Amino acid sequence: MSLAAGSGPAAGLGPAAGLGPAAGHAGLSAPPPASRWLVACDLDRTLIYSRRAAGPLPLQELVTAEHLDGAAASFLTVRAHRLLRDLASTATFVPVTTRTLAQYRRVDLGVPVRYAIAANGGHLLVDGHPDGGWARAVRVRLRQAGLGLTDVARRAEALADPAWARTVRTADDLFVYVVAHDRDRIPDLAELAAWLGEGGWTMSVQGRKVYLVPAMLTKSAALAEVRRRCGHPPVAAAGDSLLDREMLDAADAAVRPAHGELEEQGWVGPRVQVVPESGATGGEAVLARLLDIVAAPPRTTAAAFARWTARM
Ligand SMILES: [Mg+2]
Repeated sequence: MSLAAGSGPAAGLGPAAGLGPAAGHAGLSAPPPASRWLVACDLDRTLIYSRRAAGPLPLQELVTAEHLDGAAASFLTVRAHRLLRDLASTATFVPVTTRTLAQYRRVDLGVPVRYAIAANGGHLLVDGHPDGGWARAVRVRLRQAGLGLTDVARRAEALADPAWARTVRTADDLFVYVVAHDRDRIPDLAELAAWLGEGGWTMSVQGRKVYLVPAMLTKSAALAEVRRRCGHPPVAAAGDSLLDREMLDAADAAVRPAHGELEEQGWVGPRVQVVPESGATGGEAVLARLLDIVAAPPRTTAAAFARWTARM
């Protein structure tokens, strides 16, 4: 991050205060006692933004959070950066993203991160390192999905006409995404969505990207495991897309900005607050709301416990 010169990638900066040593995979050691909120935050278009998605903000109001091929690629506002630092010192902050491991590692938020979730729950990172036990458990689970990765990749290749699609990628051997030239040129994909749905997969359109993801590969399942390792604290979550919906639904309190797929669908869960702002200013507002939430004393209800254990 440009304001935190010399800091390493977001993952691996060191343990967050209040957490014990790495717990290892499920069941191998006792989790530390819950002492503060766990805050799970989606990255793209919730916390960090491309220059285009950030909206009309002057460059001096932005902090760089990602470099790609030597150029600044993602940003948050100066105020959002300050709020994020406050949040990471008050709560256990967990970045949660559909980005692949390599794409996640390009991001530097400049705050300590003990746990992170990448590839839509395919990777659970502890101090920057993927947890092998979690990765194996995910692979076993995915074998139960109706369609295989190869079937979906083949169908995506067949659909991805060069007139609208720039490339089709397989992400960490877990899911598939298509990058369009332009959001407006993405055709009606209802037939694809129906085929995926029948085969145990789901579709999410975010900006120029169309994600095709096994329905059982979820951010919320990985977050349930992080929560278990942290001693079942209350969870606050933020996100903007369909792939965040289950995580927002399960959280004790959640926030979303006024943009993205969930906004387009007008979705609001029972514990979800919508901040009126959008773009990078929306990210700022999300962080401010999360800080308000974690200022309340941690409290885990029986209903919350049931919601999360159902996801493990
Ligand atoms: Mg997002």
